[in-house]
Amino acid sequence: MDNFLIELTEEEIKRERHKSRELRRSRWWKNRLAQGICYYCGKRFPPDELTMDHVVPVTRGGKASRNNVVPACKECNSKKKYLLPMEWEEFLSRTASSEEEKNDTKI
Ligand SMILES: [Zn+2]
Repeated sequence: MDNFLIELTEEEIKRERHKSRELRRSRWWKNRLAQGICYYCGKRFPPDELTMDHVVPVTRGGKASRNNVVPACKECNSKKKYLLPMEWEEFLSRTASSEEEKNDTKI
């Protein structure tokens, strides 16, 4: 147990990628996009600027399921790729602090 890598067969990764594609075509996903809110920074975007992101990447054992797939803006998506997991956590905790403002604007 010296790292967090989960051994996945190519077959398993392929299967999850396939499921992701199906999920992307689903009405459920289209509704999420229509809401136009990035899961990470909470800002609003036109649906075509949001991408599908796996909270836990498929390559780390994440599933292509509704509770692991979120809409993310391009900025957050690339941040997540470039930042170290620790830096990413920090970014998330910073955005979470603006959560109160967001709740105020809710109906
Ligand atoms: Zn974002």
